[in-house]
Amino acid sequence: MRIPLRKLRAKEKQTQVHGVPNYMQLMQHKNFRNIDKVTYGRGSFVQLGETVEPIRKLNNQYFVYVVDNYFKGKPLSNQLQNKAEDVIYFIDIDPHEPTTEQIDTLRDEILAKKGLPSGVIGIGGGSIMDIAKALALMLTNEGSSTLYQGLNLIKKEGVYHLGVPTISGTGAEVSMTAVLTGPEKKLGLKCDWTPFNQLILDPELIASVPTDWWFYTGMDTYIHSIEAENGILNNAFSLAYGEQSLKLCREVYLYDGAGQTPENDDKLMVASLMGGLSLTYSEVGVCHALSYGLSKILEYRHCYANCVIFQHLGDLYPKGHSEFMQMIEKHNISLPKHLSKEWSEDTITKMAQVSYNLTHMWHHAFGANWKEKVNLDYIKDLFRRM
Ligand code: NAD
Ligand code: ZN
Repeated sequence: MRIPLRKLRAKEKQTQVHGVPNYMQLMQHKNFRNIDKVTYGRGSFVQLGETVEPIRKLNNQYFVYVVDNYFKGKPLSNQLQNKAEDVIYFIDIDPHEPTTEQIDTLRDEILAKKGLPSGVIGIGGGSIMDIAKALALMLTNEGSSTLYQGLNLIKKEGVYHLGVPTISGTGAEVSMTAVLTGPEKKLGLKCDWTPFNQLILDPELIASVPTDWWFYTGMDTYIHSIEAENGILNNAFSLAYGEQSLKLCREVYLYDGAGQTPENDDKLMVASLMGGLSLTYSEVGVCHALSYGLSKILEYRHCYANCVIFQHLGDLYPKGHSEFMQMIEKHNISLPKHLSKEWSEDTITKMAQVSYNLTHMWHHAFGANWKEKVNLDYIKDLFRRM
């Protein structure tokens, strides 16, 4: 019989040394920088120009805009409040999630053409948020971004960067990592200089998100909060953000009045931010560990991969899973099943290896003795459920 993670965690807490749970003695308390400034509200996007004006005097006095290609030719592209000296890149993120090569090429081109900009302004979903954060760092750090995939490897503070999210859920707008796929690994540039200096959260910008993406990406934040809650790194600080995020997600996706409405867009934008903070001060778990495997080896998009996986994790996250399945039904979302029948043993092994290496996630989900339960075979079996 499988034991839900909440019960395992309670059992772990019983093992105490001098009255202190032993996992707490092993733990280094997290100390993260947050976003410097946040503007929130419908229509707040019009404040972009005045917000960045004082920064314009820095470096070579121009801004680089990285904007999701979806907005090319749309009204937003005429409301960027850019000046003649600014450079605008419309980036098509549909072929693939952000890569190290893409960031390096962009950085080299910008520096060769106009030198160091005052700042980078990212307008788009999680992919563009990560591109803006990574680019801001790589403009001042030499060599390939592959050198900096990991924790605190960045050597110099990047340039000012501002994020305007246009899809809500990944929490990339608030997180201290810029996830990049490189030749070796899918891993973030993670350090105190990664978070945005400024966010503009305008819920009007997410109104046009197609229903399937609205669902997958919103579920990412739901799963962040469920996984953050169900593990040993959970604490009152993380839980406070997570509970608020879950409450908002239930109003947006589950309860009466659920659906893509302006009121719910207002809530979803905040839920995404809070879910991101919840996981930052705790950790994600089994679904995300598997999701990285699926993304790295079979190139599934992050939020979609999470949904494909989470439908099979009812024994590990019973309450979250039950609500998730109700939300799927309510919004007529169809997720593929029996995928593993098409996967070779080699593919499953490769995905399991990527997942196994995310030891901090397994540790969070199953406790300090996670290796007693989790090994390559266990993870391969989880993939075979799909
Ligand atoms: P996305 O940025 O990949 O975009 C998904 C699709 O939505 C694209 O087709 C895009 O063009 C379109 N789109 C964006 N805004 C739109 C709008 N307002 N209207 C209509 N279409 C719009 O989506 P995402 O799910 O937000 O981001 C996924 C990425 O986030 C992945 O690369 C993943 O690795 C990353 N991620 C990062 C973190 C982090 O902490 N840094 C966390 C989770 C995921
Ligand atoms: Zn996620």
